[in-house]
Amino acid sequence: MQALKGIHLEDIIENLRSYQPGAEADQLWAAYTFASKAHKGQVRLSGEPYMNHPMQVAMILTRMKMDQTAITAGLLHDTLEDTDATPEALMELFGPEVTSLVEGLTKLSKISFSSKEESQAENVRKMILAMSRDIRVVLIKLADRLHNMRTLDFLPPNKQKSISQETMDIYAPLAARLGLHWIKVELENIAFHYLLPFEYKRIQGLMAERQEELDRVLLSISNQTRELLLKERIAGEVSGRFKHLYGIYRKMNEQKLDFDQIYDLIGIRIITNTLMDCYMALGLVHNHWKPIPGKFKDYIALPKENFYRSIHSTVLTHAGRRVEFQIRTQQMHRHSEEGIAAHFRYKEGSVSTKEDENFIWVKRLLDLGLHVNSPQEFMDNIKMDLFPDEVYVFTPKQEVKAFPNGATPIDFAYAVHTQVGNHYLGALVNGKPVPPDTKLRNGDVVEILTSEDQHPSRDWIKIAATSHARATIKSYIRNSQKADSLRLGREMVEQELLRNKIDPVKYMAKSLLESAAGAIGFKNAETLIERIGSSTFSVYSLLQKLLPPDEWKTVEETRKTYLKDVQQETGVRVGDLHDMMIRFAGCCNPVPGDPILGYVSAGHGLVIHNKSCPMIKVLESDPEKIIEARWETQVKKQMRPVRILIYCINKPGILANVSTSIAACEANISAATITPTSYMGGEIDLTVEILDLNHLQKIIEALRKVDGVKSVERIMDASRGTTK
Ligand code: MN
Repeated sequence: MQALKGIHLEDIIENLRSYQPGAEADQLWAAYTFASKAHKGQVRLSGEPYMNHPMQVAMILTRMKMDQTAITAGLLHDTLEDTDATPEALMELFGPEVTSLVEGLTKLSKISFSSKEESQAENVRKMILAMSRDIRVVLIKLADRLHNMRTLDFLPPNKQKSISQETMDIYAPLAARLGLHWIKVELENIAFHYLLPFEYKRIQGLMAERQEELDRVLLSISNQTRELLLKERIAGEVSGRFKHLYGIYRKMNEQKLDFDQIYDLIGIRIITNTLMDCYMALGLVHNHWKPIPGKFKDYIALPKENFYRSIHSTVLTHAGRRVEFQIRTQQMHRHSEEGIAAHFRYKEGSVSTKEDENFIWVKRLLDLGLHVNSPQEFMDNIKMDLFPDEVYVFTPKQEVKAFPNGATPIDFAYAVHTQVGNHYLGALVNGKPVPPDTKLRNGDVVEILTSEDQHPSRDWIKIAATSHARATIKSYIRNSQKADSLRLGREMVEQELLRNKIDPVKYMAKSLLESAAGAIGFKNAETLIERIGSSTFSVYSLLQKLLPPDEWKTVEETRKTYLKDVQQETGVRVGDLHDMMIRFAGCCNPVPGDPILGYVSAGHGLVIHNKSCPMIKVLESDPEKIIEARWETQVKKQMRPVRILIYCINKPGILANVSTSIAACEANISAATITPTSYMGGEIDLTVEILDLNHLQKIIEALRKVDGVKSVERIMDASRGTTK
């Protein structure tokens, strides 16, 4: 193989075999060859061959002790996005597992976000986890980001800044959450360098000034620690480190400290063989130096959320310097290097359960209800644990919003703003129009279209998944119904008085209405009027209280004749609810002969629908408002409108033939819309005035005989056809 600036595939294989001794090299070689071919001729901005990048990413993955599948995917991770390679080719050569990892990475790379708002960044981090069905996608993404950060120097300054900001907001915290401390530290330091170059150089300079002294202290404390361990025959590796630059900066910034007030610049790590030795070593350290109260944390007994385990304690040295000790076993240390990946790496069964730490580790996972069988299963569990069942979607401005699973564009609209929800007209998901009950999926980009003329409809309540949206819709409907009822109630009282030639102004004075309402037992006149408007209280019961006896007598007389008239006029009988205003529904236009029922509509009196009207399903959500209704046997002959939709072939004279045959049936066309659906034909949407169902049947039959007419149907759905 040709050398790639210091990195060879053999190095990667060797690293892999150091923790997976039996690992096969064939697949890695195949991936290497495939990726090299695919990226052939491509160069990075640094001028080096592109292939260096996936090689470095694979190398980082071996430090994370990732499995062979992940490393293979690491070598291939940019092939789908940047080359002609296809998922099919990957599938054939590397199988579904590798392919789905590479596809997952391609999907993630299409998203870019930078946000300063904390909760927003948190949502993005959650979304990345949620979008990646396999946790290894996120881990490879972190390796990819790490190498990209290491080579950021070759990008233009504005790119350096935006990528660094994104790293600081999204990827460094993500690495921390996944227990990959070393990746977090390195990402932060590099991002710090590009975001705040002046501060970076200042702290770097301050560290350099004291480097000699710090080195000396570090060496001395390390040596003393080694001696302590040696004397007590405790096996342990001792290493020293300095606090990372960004950590120092953050501490200075957050606690408003000068550099010289940062005491814990030096850290010592003791890595022991056994758990017992950790506590033994801790005892030795505390015995030799003075522990600082409040600076002791036992993450072995109480691991962090990301399962990090270690003992931390800050002590005061004899020279008065603060030093933080981290004490952990080898296994805990490995886990802190590998992060969450450590949980599933040994799925082949090579896990050595003899080690008691490992047992505790696994036990703890099981205690949390987690399984360690597969990365997929692990991911699902960790998601359930860390994040409730949520979906994360984007606004067109790339803000992320979180919703419960099952949320729809309606929920999204209300999450943007109440007014956006209340004027919801439609939604585009990933640029395509979708129905309002579409379930949103992770990563969807959702755009809401609004119109001042649109208002919430009752069926949205069922569509919305968030309680916020549901409550807002309900309150809107309640309020608008209330306003409608009030207006209608007022009209009903007025009309009744006018019909009896009684002056409404005289009796509808607020004081009179209030006292009548009180006498009947209502809280106030408004409630009373509203109840009249919603047809749940009789206008006559009010008038009986409101009017002097002789005037009430007139009203009662007129009422009797009027009711008879209404019944004759509409031909509808609805049982005992005599004071109802009766109207025919505009959606289904019932005609005598149709099976019908009535719906008490706030603001509209009693609305008569055809029993097969599509609206019934919606109205049935409040069954108490549905009232049985039927046609009188003797109906006064009067014309009623119905809608008919005709599909026809584009033939000369067809329109004339259609209208002639309707006229021949003694019916009138009161509205017509003609819409060409293709050059061959079109749709004729007609409103025809007819007598009853028999009459309608006759017309439909006649129309079907017209030459060129393909189909004729009656429509009862207001949303269909062209006349809305
Ligand atoms: Mn990459």
